[in-house]
Amino acid sequence: MEKLHKHFTFLDLCFTIKIMNFEEQKKVLIIEDEPDIVLGLKDALEFEGYKVLAASSGKQGIQFIRYNPHCIILDLMLPDINGYIVCKKIRQINPTVPIIILTAKAQENDKIRGLDMGADDYVTKPFSIGELLARIRAIFRRASLPPKLESTFKIGEIEINTRTHTLTKNRKTFFLSFYEVELLKLLYEYANRPVSREEILRTIWGITPSSTNRTVDNFIVKLRKKIEDSVKKPKHILTIYGFGYKLVL
Ligand code: CA
Repeated sequence: MEKLHKHFTFLDLCFTIKIMNFEEQKKVLIIEDEPDIVLGLKDALEFEGYKVLAASSGKQGIQFIRYNPHCIILDLMLPDINGYIVCKKIRQINPTVPIIILTAKAQENDKIRGLDMGADDYVTKPFSIGELLARIRAIFRRASLPPKLESTFKIGEIEINTRTHTLTKNRKTFFLSFYEVELLKLLYEYANRPVSREEILRTIWGITPSSTNRTVDNFIVKLRKKIEDSVKKPKHILTIYGFGYKLVL
């Protein structure tokens, strides 16, 4: 028994080394001017095995997009360019890379403005590094999952392409961000059945749900603008009060 256990551990170790050698190391770009936050994040992310690029200004952050990061952490209060503008410019270069905004502004409308500029998520300062890491882990886990669905599927007359991150409605094509695609995929897996907010947060964001968390609701607002003919009378993404949402095909 003892031997078997040792054997297994050795194989386990070989497998880990193999993964470390062959799997592309994930790159995280931090755009933030506060050295203490950069240092704390860099240590934590490197400990998780990620490669970290750090830019201390908006201009440098935009330049670093050429290194093709897999995820971006963007502070809104930068010394040179307003973070919202940085976000918009990044989106013009790379429409799909997940962007998490760091914001000291707790107001809901600032967050929504960030999401409108193409950010995927936001974390309010002061934040827990553990929670931010959980979100990043969830992003990479979802991104590396073998696809459960075909790369295109339909919601009514609307076509979603999860490979190109696009939505086509009335012959017009819109880009979808990382979380918009993931949220649509999850709702589609549950099509015509309700899925709870808790389930969505746990599965997609990798975070423990709290009653004050408006993340899912904000994304639903964004998706309805792209999908529904009337945002006030949605036909596809329905709210199940006190529970969550239901996708009607
Ligand atoms: Ca700052």
